[in-house]
Amino acid sequence: MLNKPDESSGDRQKSSHAPFTMYPSSFSKSAFSQTQSVQDDIHSLFHKVSRDVVFLEEVLRSTIAVDSFVKNLFEIYKATLGNEFAQKVEIGIYRSDYMLQKSPGEPAVFLPKQIEINTMAASFFGIGTNKVKRLQQYNLRNAGISFDNLNMPENGALGGIARVMVEGWKKYGNPEALFVFMINKSETNIYDQRAIEYAMYEYDPAVKVRRKVFDNCISTTRTDQDGKLFIDDEEVAVVYFRTCYMPDQFPTNKHWEVRKLIELSSAIKSPSIAHQLVGSKKIQQVLAKPGVLEKFIKDEDAVKRLRGTFADLYSLDMNAAGDAAVKLAIEKPEGFVLKPQREGGGNNLYDSEMVEQLTEIGGDERRCAYILMEKIIPPVQKNYIIYDHACSMANTVSELGIFGAFLTNGDEVTDSHTVGHLLRSKSDKHKDGGVAAGVAVLDSPILI
Ligand code: ADP
Ligand code: MG
Ligand code: MG
Repeated sequence: MLNKPDESSGDRQKSSHAPFTMYPSSFSKSAFSQTQSVQDDIHSLFHKVSRDVVFLEEVLRSTIAVDSFVKNLFEIYKATLGNEFAQKVEIGIYRSDYMLQKSPGEPAVFLPKQIEINTMAASFFGIGTNKVKRLQQYNLRNAGISFDNLNMPENGALGGIARVMVEGWKKYGNPEALFVFMINKSETNIYDQRAIEYAMYEYDPAVKVRRKVFDNCISTTRTDQDGKLFIDDEEVAVVYFRTCYMPDQFPTNKHWEVRKLIELSSAIKSPSIAHQLVGSKKIQQVLAKPGVLEKFIKDEDAVKRLRGTFADLYSLDMNAAGDAAVKLAIEKPEGFVLKPQREGGGNNLYDSEMVEQLTEIGGDERRCAYILMEKIIPPVQKNYIIYDHACSMANTVSELGIFGAFLTNGDEVTDSHTVGHLLRSKSDKHKDGGVAAGVAVLDSPILI
């Protein structure tokens, strides 16, 4: 990864290795297969939800009233309805994240609990998957530990997602049009993105990948009378967003106008605004309410499988249930996490910070910007964390991500695949997570 730019020195930006654990971590084999088994269900569920404007409007109303970022996204979503140049194809690249929770009773088993589902800009399938497994096998070998009998699952995330990305690009129907990676000005995760680009070329050398910095596209993006999208005067088939998920990535109104222009164009989006919206924590909370899954999924087994992965989630809407949730969190802060509708790590509130925030806003509608979630306490194991060339022993906890990729065509989900996984671990001293946020490190599982 590139180091964060040191603006004071003026030196060329240096890179360092992405942080990782020296050895793989053990992870429950049955929980691992349970998380794999629900990924396709998640793709079809989220696609259905993304097309249900009445449902989205209803459940996001209270959030929209106090969160201008979600409000802006929703306004663009509404503008796409009935859009004459509408693109029927979308490319979904999802990562569902889980932590293990010990079941009550004996013998105890570890069950996977969904932390969140990332419907956009999910990262580290480039450098964080098979490469980390190989690195850890190398470390085991050097330590004189045989890994022949260790169950370290194969990881097809990079190849599998690259394939779906290229197949999506082909659906646009113009082999001259670009596949654009829309990125941040000060992107540090450049090697992850390069690995994806190379995997796409490996699958099909005809694809034309370009990286564009969103800020620079503000004055160079346009559409023609047929709704075709052009950036720097080149026609664009696909816009793959590795930016546009945080408020500070939209410093001006012009940024929102350009995001809207892209959405209303005939280019394929990954994700569309609709899929970005269904990835919000508010939707996660509403889907966990009794009866809501059944509205979208007819297969009872699928409903059961999915619900089995849900933690307890609480709405903070302005009603008696919301009042009760505020009270619960203030009385027992160690049992909960307070989450705003943000991405990228470092945004959640815990313990005294959560109590302070809820004490201040818990009585008015500002609380609707958040949801409350049961805190998961995963099992701890010892490992070495290698961070910026320094090695230290830590008590670690892990979070498993399952990568899925799919295409859509109108109401249909096509080409849906569960392609691989990402294990991230962190010292149990940290409450929040995220590799890019400088907390979690790359890891890979040994299934036991
Ligand atoms: P983001 O979209 O910012 O990644 P997450 O919901 O994944 O938001 O939360 C960030 C991190 O906070 C997670 O990676 C995890 O380490 C921690 N976390 C989130 N929810 C919980 C929870 N319910 N219990 C324990 N830790 C959690
Ligand atoms: Mg997220
Ligand atoms: Mg997360």
